Amino acid sequence: MLGVAGPICPARAWRGSCSDAYRSSVTRVPGPFQTPRTATQARDRLRRATIPPEVLEVGRTLHDAGHESVLVGGAVRDCLRGAPHDDWDLATSARPEEVVGLFRRTIPTGIAHGTVTVMTGRGERRLAVEVTTFRGDGEYVDGRRPRSVRFLRDLGQDLARRDFTINAFAWDPFTERFTDGFGGLADLRDGLVRAVGDPTERFREDGLRAMRAVRFCAVMEFSLDPATCSAITEALGVLDKVSRERIRTELMKLLGARRPGYGLRPLAGTGLWSRVLMRLEEEQREAAIQHIDALRSDAVLRLARLLWPRRRDATELLSVVVALKLSRADQRRVTELTRPYIAALAEVGEPAELRRIVARLGAGQLPDALDVAEVGAAQRMVIAEACDGSALNAKDLAIGARDLIDRAGAEAGPRLGQTLRTLLAEVIEDPRRNTARYLLKRGQELIARSTD
Ligand code: ATP
Ligand code: MG
Repeated sequence: MLGVAGPICPARAWRGSCSDAYRSSVTRVPGPFQTPRTATQARDRLRRATIPPEVLEVGRTLHDAGHESVLVGGAVRDCLRGAPHDDWDLATSARPEEVVGLFRRTIPTGIAHGTVTVMTGRGERRLAVEVTTFRGDGEYVDGRRPRSVRFLRDLGQDLARRDFTINAFAWDPFTERFTDGFGGLADLRDGLVRAVGDPTERFREDGLRAMRAVRFCAVMEFSLDPATCSAITEALGVLDKVSRERIRTELMKLLGARRPGYGLRPLAGTGLWSRVLMRLEEEQREAAIQHIDALRSDAVLRLARLLWPRRRDATELLSVVVALKLSRADQRRVTELTRPYIAALAEVGEPAELRRIVARLGAGQLPDALDVAEVGAAQRMVIAEACDGSALNAKDLAIGARDLIDRAGAEAGPRLGQTLRTLLAEVIEDPRRNTARYLLKRGQELIARSTD
């Protein structure tokens, strides 16, 4: 990963948002890192930033050919926050055809929107650098992309089309000019996600911006500017035009953050929550958020916990999971971790019953299920003791299918599988039965009975 040296982002004062639920207390702990307060401090920070040489080389070629070439977007934002960033975007006054003409290897990735990918470096240092011509967006018609774009020579207008003030910085490493188009430095310092320009218009244009806003709140532990929050609520309908895959990507990034609560509260406060997930009572929602913040950073596990209060409504739950277009494996994991019977793990004390639940669940899933069902430490001990040394799977039995065929007169086929399942159930009931002697004898009985 290409990154910038330095401590991780500072914490800032909580500012609140448009809904009471969301306004609830999220406290910020002051960190050692200071976000630059002035353009001069920002310049100093960016001068010291570790920018990949391949990116600088591409920028230098554009600059030497007489074009403006600046770093933009998340990489500049994250350099200023002292956080690592993977993708480095260059914006330039050069037209796409001029960019193509300046480099040996280019890919016309999104040339209609002014993006050309320049391939640089060799071998392990081979890098694709995205170069986008300064542009202004035409009318938005489909709730996601402009119908047309105008290529511009002016950086200011290019920054005006960007989503949030903290994403509308530009850094020219060759002239060392730092541009903060819309007061992003102040918002970065105050921990605010604020739309550039008229927020209502910006969210009506592109429905994905709403999900990006709450994702940035989660990842950066920022709050949502109140006007931006209200504008998202006003434009909720546009979300229907955004592909479910894009929504899922943003939601999973949000859930993978250190403290997803920073994004989940504005997700609820804006009204996005009930469009993307299932409606929850406020109390259940707050309990889920607090629990998720304490869970390990596994987005799928956290999603299962979010859906857990609605576990009895399997059809609705499945429809959320399917609508999010999760991979098959993730769908299965969420579905399995939200099975209602898991709730008994938190209550039941009877060892055989606990073993039955764990066997049904699969021992591999147990740690996640204990997390989702919020099973306390004392009950975890009870479960561990109940399962200790006991067979929970046919593979753990003292005999196998081969033994039943060779020594108990069984025949290969579905009945053999059924016999093994019955033997396993009996061992789960009483683990002392897991001996070859008992199982062969009992197996013979079962086989004789089934062939009668
Ligand atoms: P990350 O890389 O962590 O997702 P990012 O801000 O870098 O964050 P990118 O998708 O890499 O996001 O986009 C780069 C920049 O392009 C953004 O910082 C922003 O300036 C602009 N941008 C991206 N998506 C949009 C959008 N939907 N509307 C307006 N501007 C956008
Ligand atoms: Mg980026």
